[in-house]
Amino acid sequence: KVLCATGIIAGLLAFFWKDAFNPESLSGARVLLTGASAGIGEQMAYHYAKFGAEIVLTARREAVLQKVVEKCLTLGAKKIFYIPADMSSPSEPEKVVQFAVQKLGGLDYLVLNHIGVTHFQMWAGDVEYTRWLMQVNFFSYVALATAALPTLEKNKGSLVVVSSLTGKIPTPFTTSYSATKFALDGFFSSLRHELIMQNRNVSVTLCILGLIDTDTALENTRGKVHLTASPAPEAALAIIRGGATRVQEVFYPWWLQHMCCLWVLFPNDRDQVLQSYYNYSSP
Ligand code: NDP
Repeated sequence: KVLCATGIIAGLLAFFWKDAFNPESLSGARVLLTGASAGIGEQMAYHYAKFGAEIVLTARREAVLQKVVEKCLTLGAKKIFYIPADMSSPSEPEKVVQFAVQKLGGLDYLVLNHIGVTHFQMWAGDVEYTRWLMQVNFFSYVALATAALPTLEKNKGSLVVVSSLTGKIPTPFTTSYSATKFALDGFFSSLRHELIMQNRNVSVTLCILGLIDTDTALENTRGKVHLTASPAPEAALAIIRGGATRVQEVFYPWWLQHMCCLWVLFPNDRDQVLQSYYNYSSP
């Protein structure tokens, strides 16, 4: 019964959510997109370009960013700039936001998507790596959002944060990565309440993604997870739609929402489900 009810509700929500999206609303929208040189970020850049947005892309590799910029121009980007930046450096987030505001004259969307190099392996005690990953995957998100909030507020803008199923459900081989994604949920879901309490018109969309077929994700999980990866261009579009329609959470693929509901509703069955996906059993 519970499954049936959640299925119907999720189906209805998905139907109305899809209907509410108007691609024309993104024509001329000013977007700062991080992690834009590869994977899902690169695909988001192409979608935004097709929708006629004005875009600033950032990631570390300048030559790769240049190539993405060239393709975006052929796809219809109204204006496009890039700025190479390493988000492990605490001074970079503010510089990147300043650059974007200066080039575009303000921001309507801040899309936080980058992640530091992730090892899909068992915890081996590298505390320094966890500290570094927290800086790249969490603290830089907080700093970027903080620097962008004034311009987003002025433009009734949107903050879009890309997270993962492992930011809702802890899974093996993702100790540090999962911690950074849980931290994002805690921080940005709390911030969402505070913005509403203060009548500040900035939406916060948290995106919960399952396994997506980017090169890095496929390389990391090969032989370790028995799941089919979903296509990056579709994941990218789901994120963009979620931001544009100002929903609080996006689940892609859609059935992850059921999984998260069941996770909360049936705590006693959790271990069994995970063990079947990861092919191990309790002693
Ligand atoms: P990729 O590894 O394909 O891309 C990561 C991006 O981040 C690249 O553009 C990379 O560019 C940039 N980046 C890496 N290190 C830094 C750094 N130190 N400073 C600034 N930028 C950096 O990732 P995905 O596309 O797979 O993932 C995108 C988002 O989706 C992430 O938030 C991830 O957690 C989430 N997600 C992905 C899943 C998947 O299966 N793919 C599953 C669940 C969530 P460069 O090297 O040029 O810096």
